[in-house]
Formats: sequence, structure tokens, C-alpha cells
Amino acid sequence: MLSKLNTFLFNKYRLIGILTILLIFSFTFTSLISYNVTRTAITSDSKNVILPLISDNIYSEIQKELLQPIYNSSIMANDEFLVNWVLAGEQNEEEVIRYLQRIRERYDYFSAFYVSDLTKNYYYYDGILKQISPEDVHDIWYYNFVELNRDYDLDVDNDEATEGTMTIFINHRLEDSEGNFLGVTGVGLQMSAMGETLERYRERFGHLIYMIDADGLIQIHPDQDLILKMNIREFEGLSSLGEEILQKDSETHYYAYNTRSGEVTLSARYFPDLNWYLIVEQDQTQTLREARENLIGNIVIGLIVTILVIVLVIIVLNLFISKLENYATKDEMTGIYNRRKMDELLLREIAFARRYDDPLCLMILDIDHFKSVNDTYGHRAGDHYLKGLSEVLQVEVRHVDYLGRWGGEEFIILLPKTSLDQAKEVAERLRIAVEALQVETGRGLISRTISVGITNAELAKFDMDEMMRQADEAMYRAKQMGGNKVVSWG
Ligand code: GH3
Ligand code: MG
Ligand code: MG
Repeated sequence: MLSKLNTFLFNKYRLIGILTILLIFSFTFTSLISYNVTRTAITSDSKNVILPLISDNIYSEIQKELLQPIYNSSIMANDEFLVNWVLAGEQNEEEVIRYLQRIRERYDYFSAFYVSDLTKNYYYYDGILKQISPEDVHDIWYYNFVELNRDYDLDVDNDEATEGTMTIFINHRLEDSEGNFLGVTGVGLQMSAMGETLERYRERFGHLIYMIDADGLIQIHPDQDLILKMNIREFEGLSSLGEEILQKDSETHYYAYNTRSGEVTLSARYFPDLNWYLIVEQDQTQTLREARENLIGNIVIGLIVTILVIVLVIIVLNLFISKLENYATKDEMTGIYNRRKMDELLLREIAFARRYDDPLCLMILDIDHFKSVNDTYGHRAGDHYLKGLSEVLQVEVRHVDYLGRWGGEEFIILLPKTSLDQAKEVAERLRIAVEALQVETGRGLISRTISVGITNAELAKFDMDEMMRQADEAMYRAKQMGGNKVVSWG
């Protein structure tokens, strides 16, 4: 099981593949998580902090702007003077005009008016504007209001007295002491002033603030063109939320919806006094875009880091593998091939020689009387000599030949495409070179000779063990002849 896992992981490319996937996955995963956290934080910040704050501020602002006139129109509706003047038969119209004028100027209203149910006269601060009639579309508000039977109502309309200026009229019922309906009085506020307040907010905080009536129709909006023309249900992304928003409870509700360009959070607050809703919208597109750019930045950094890590891993892995290969095939002390590698090469070269009908020679070299080196100079000096000897052999042996340490003080050389005679020449050269070698050990010069045994693959019938045996025996014969000799098999 473990070895299976080892082989699975130790495939270089598989390992790098797994690592790449792991790194990319973890970077992407953490980036996505942090993006989502940011997203949630943005939305909850908007819902819990920003929208309520704005909503409250606007609420008091609107109170300032609307509730005062509502209050004043109720004062007008309860004014003894006005009731008495109407009951007295609407004589001396200048009196009521002056009265309306005073109210208008005192509070800086856009308009102040009284519409008599008896005479249908529309009195305003500058005279009698007209006589209202159910046939005139401009006067529908009056008949609607009377029908509604409410104390007061707000009505956004064009003001005829000023050539159609958008005006918020606050209409109040005027009754005598018995409760008989006499007419409608109230004041008018210029819509653009209200719109400006909302526009100010938009400029300061980047929030869109507007008011809709109970049916969702826009009543106050910084964009004057939308007033009384657009219903909230007609806005992109808002159509499905329309019903939910118009639910008339005193809570502030929060929603989020998507437009083509991004995401918007929205708070809706119902004003029972006005029977209107205050809507505050916060466009999250910009903030979310920043978060998304961050996300992409993170992923790009992740990819760069992944590439760097992978390059590093490849370098380290290659180093590690070549070290390991070295360790598995080379003799630690001399740096030439070890016995295992020579076994492998011998097997392969025999197969080649047989396949291509090439000559192949094998040489075994044994140092004569090496034991005495250790005995006389010590083991370390012996090692030193072995290294010196292997260097000489490396220099003398051709590049196409294979030199290895067979064990102890025995060396082995494989000579592909080499006849026995050629091999003998090489061996002789080596023998002479070794004979001439003197190694300084610190405790004196060491000089030894070698005995060399040679055979070829054909003689051994292409059998590896037989080839070794023959070469070994030839080498043994060289020893018997007194050493420092080259002997070939046969
Ligand atoms: P001959 O081959 O001529 O018969 O004599 P010899 O002394 O070389 O023969 P033998 O095979 O009996 O001894 C080999 C010696 O080589 C024994 C051992 O102490 C020494 N030897 C083998 N490997 C190493 C080594 O790695 N380092 C050192 N310093 N000595 C080694
Ligand atoms: Mg030996
Ligand atoms: Mg020996």
C-alpha cells in the first residue's frame, strides 16, 4: 500500500501536477472565500449601518419639510376666522386673500389656498384663481379628496397659479362646528425644493432617495421627469419587489436587487402620516467591482506564486533525483560506477554484443599485495591510494568503456566493440600506468602494481557469470605468475 503510494507520488510529473492543482485550488478557494466575506460585509454594512442612518436622517429632514406644513394646514382648517368668513357668505374676498398671503409669506410656502364647496371658488394668495368644476381634469383632486373623506391628504400636482410648477399640496378639510363640510384649505410646497434635498443627499452620500405613494407611484424624486410618471414596479430589477415593498407596516425593510450593471441594496420605510414610502437605494456596483478586482488580483498573485513554487519544486526535484541516481549507481569513495551499475551494464552490453555480433571484453583488475598497504600505512592511506588509482584508471580508460569498482581493491572494466588483442593492449597500458603511480599519503609514497585478467563474451558464450568467472580466473593466474601481469582467458 505504502509502496504503491510511493510510486504514485514519485512519478515526477504526477507529483508536479498534484502540487499545481493543490496550489491553484487552495489559492482560488481562499480568494473566493475572502471575496464572499467582503461581499457579505458590504451588504450587511449597508443594511445595518448606512441605510438606517440615511433613512433616519431623511426622515427628520422630511418631517421638517412636510410635517410642519401639515400642521399649519390643520391650523388653517381649525381657524375661527376662516370658518366664520365662509359661514358669513364669503364676503370681502380681500380678507381671505390677505389671510392666505400672510400664511404663505410667514412660512415661506409656495402657495396657500382655500376652495369653497359652496361657491366652488378657488381662493389663493393672489386672488381668485378659478371656479373649480368636476369637468376640469385639474380639479379632480378636489372631488377625489372630498370622496376620500379624510382629514387631510397630500397631493402632488401642477400648480395652475404658477403655470404648472410641480407642487406638493397639503389639503385639509374645513368644517363648521357641527362638522358640516365647508371646503378645502391648505398650503403648497414647491416640489423642486424637496427634490433638491434628496439630490443633496445623492451628491453627498451617493444614495438615491425618493418617495412613492401607496400604489408605488413616484411622488418625490431627484429626477423630476419621473415624478407621477413612473411606478416602482416599472424599474429594472424592482418589479418583483414592488408588492413586498408596499406592505404598509412601520418597520424598515431591506432588499437587494440586481440591475444589468450591478447590485443595489434598498431600504423602504412607510410613513403612515403621509401614506407614502421613503426609499433609499445604495448602488453596490462600484464597491463590488473593487472586491471583484481584488479577487482577480489575488488569483493572479496565486498563479504567479504557484508558477514560482512549481519551478522551484522542479529544480529541487531534479537535483534530488540526480543525487539519488548518483547514489544508486556510483561508488561513494571513488566516484566511478558501483557493482550494481556494472552488473546492469554488463548484462546490457552482453545482449548488445550478441544482437549485433560485436566483440565485448571484460577486464578484472586486482591490486597486488594491497593488504600490506593497510598494514603498513593504515586504512585511510589505503583509501587514499584507491582513489588515486581510480583517477589514473579513469584517465587511461576510453570514454566508450565502462569503469567500475567491483568491491574492495578490485576494479572491473567493460570494453564494447573491442577485440581480446585490443583489450590486452589497453590492459598493458593500464598496468604500466599503475606501476608508475605513486600516491603521497602523508606517511610516505605508496606504489603498487595490478594483476589483470581478461576474457571476451564469445569465449564465455555470452553468459555473464561465466564471463566473470573466466576473467577472475585469468586474473588469478596473473597473480600466480607473480603479479603485475596481464593474462587473458584461454
Ligand atoms: P593479493 O591480491 O596480491 O593476493 O593480495 P592482497 O593483499 O591484495 O589480497 P587480499 O584480497 O587478501 O586483500 C585485500 C585487502 O584489501 C584486504 C582489505 O583490507 C583491503 N581492502 C579492501 N577494500 C578496502 C578499502 O576500501 N580500503 C582499504 N584501505 N583497504 C581495503
Ligand atoms: Mg582482492
Ligand atoms: Mg589484491
